[in-house]
Amino acid sequence: MAVKVAKFGGSSLASAEQILKMKQIIDADEARKFVVPSAPGKRFPDDIKVTDLLYALHDAALRLDDTKEIYQKIVKRYTDIRDELGLSIRIEEYLEKMYEDIRTGASEDYAASRGEYMNGLLIADLLGYDFIDAADVIFFNENGTYDAKKTLAILPGALKLHERAVIPGFYGSLPNGKIKTFSRGGSDITGSIVSRAANADLYENWTDVSGFLMADPRIVDGPKKIDVITYRELRELAYMGATVLHEDSIFPVLEAAIPINVKNTNDPKNSGTMIIPAIEGRDGAKEGITGIAGKKNFTVITIEKDGMNAEIGFGRKLLGCLEKFGLSYEHMPSSIDTISIVIADVRVRGVIEQLIDEIHAQCQPDSVEVSSNMAIIATVGRGMIRQIGVSAKLFSALAKNHVNVRMIDQGSSEINIIVGVENDDFEKAVQAIYTALV
Ligand code: ADP
Ligand code: ASP
Ligand code: MG
Repeated sequence: MAVKVAKFGGSSLASAEQILKMKQIIDADEARKFVVPSAPGKRFPDDIKVTDLLYALHDAALRLDDTKEIYQKIVKRYTDIRDELGLSIRIEEYLEKMYEDIRTGASEDYAASRGEYMNGLLIADLLGYDFIDAADVIFFNENGTYDAKKTLAILPGALKLHERAVIPGFYGSLPNGKIKTFSRGGSDITGSIVSRAANADLYENWTDVSGFLMADPRIVDGPKKIDVITYRELRELAYMGATVLHEDSIFPVLEAAIPINVKNTNDPKNSGTMIIPAIEGRDGAKEGITGIAGKKNFTVITIEKDGMNAEIGFGRKLLGCLEKFGLSYEHMPSSIDTISIVIADVRVRGVIEQLIDEIHAQCQPDSVEVSSNMAIIATVGRGMIRQIGVSAKLFSALAKNHVNVRMIDQGSSEINIIVGVENDDFEKAVQAIYTALV
């Protein structure tokens, strides 16, 4: 029989009402043997995700502030869900243990992980599925990176022992047994890992939109849906800000080539978006673009030096400066005599002046210019580069809308054009590109 892994995001599980939609989806297809839940998310726009409440609780405990109010909010989220679902599980016991642990020095990751852990307990109870604690089956290396080898040695066997099970998302354990989480949005990665370990036929990622859209629906009004997208395009868009799916969630399923189907819990009949290894027979031949994504808050350092291209070792010296400050960069577009480095604002905060001094000392440039509060926008599409006129249309749309383009990277990657604009122009620029190219 086919096996499907179904991951549900926070808004899909934010209340008893939403959780019942999840149950209907699970009950409708017996292939949905493994369920990966997130913590309860927002029920309405100004609501607070349980994960954010947990971070706040940990923070308050650390600063010896009053923790009661935040704790009571968390208690209410879980007891409301339990009561409205008519379950009898003693969730208070888990809540109390968590509260005690946090007040006696448990880590931030431990605190955050309890969101998924307790939601998993409720959901397993509701579905009548077994509960597998992710701490026992998903592993991290000592340096905090995901340990695929150990996980794939243990998780497949553990899954075989259960006909049907709930495995909470977002966390696992370190070699010393302590809890470790993925980065925010990481339940998507857990879903992918479980899919790989179960050798699933399909990884369903259930969220609150009907698939991957061509642009962020919070910026562009009613963007078109992407029916099919490749792993590579997905990663490019996700990394560049289309946060529907965590950008690292393709790695665990890559080798086994398990397709991912992004679906809407509130509209389960919609076919959503299929994410697949490559598009057979027509890779690169697709008309138009696949999607647009972007994010704010970058610093662009532009270095100018006549004859830079001919100077042996220039690039090495420049990158050496970044290395000295432990900085990784996002992009590095270049032309004959200039090179720009794009780094997240948070990374260079506090060290930018020293970094510039170092660049002056090591590279003797003619000038170094720094612009912070920049946004970067990627326009992605397989074969886009071969289509004459895409970039002309893109740049004339930006000009027409008075967006000042501060950086362009049309580098060697065949599937994207990246532009840098001021933070304040971000939304306008995304809308202009969408209107011109879709
Ligand atoms: P979940 O809680 O289910 O994991 P997320 O909030 O992580 O859901 O991701 C879904 C949200 O991603 C959508 O509600 C939407 O606001 C946002 N989003 C950003 N870019 C896109 C895009 N290109 N397509 C669809 N949704 C997008
Ligand atoms: N609950 C975690 C977060 O808010 C993980 C997730 O939702 O995927 O980031
Ligand atoms: Mg998410």
